[in-house]
Amino acid sequence: MSMQCPRCGSHHVTARQVGRKFGAATGSGCGTAIGAAGALSGAKAGALIGLAAGPMVMTVTSLAGAVFGGLVGGTTFGVAGAKLGTELDQKVLDNLACADCQHTFRPSIE
Ligand SMILES: [Zn+2]
Repeated sequence: MSMQCPRCGSHHVTARQVGRKFGAATGSGCGTAIGAAGALSGAKAGALIGLAAGPMVMTVTSLAGAVFGGLVGGTTFGVAGAKLGTELDQKVLDNLACADCQHTFRPSIE
C-alpha cells in the first residue's frame, strides 16, 4: 500500500504512531501499578507456600511471588496498551504525516 499526501501529492509520508507510543507508555504504567498489587498477593501466596517449609523458604517464595507478579503485570498491560494505541492510531487519530508539507491526515480505509 503506497501512501500519498492528499495536499501536495508527495510520497514522503511517515506514520506518526502517536497513539501507539502513548498506549504503550500508559499501558506499562498501569501494568506496573497493577503488577505491584499482583506482587503483593504473589508475595502473600509465596509466603503461605513457604510458611509450611520454614522462614528461609518463606522469604524466597515471597520474593519470587512478588517479582513474578510485577513482571507479568507490567508486560501484559504494556502490550495491551500498545495494541490499544495502534487501534487508536488506525481509527481515530491523524496518523500519517507528510515529510514535505507537514500535513497530517488519516490513512484512507480501502
Ligand atoms: Zn504533503
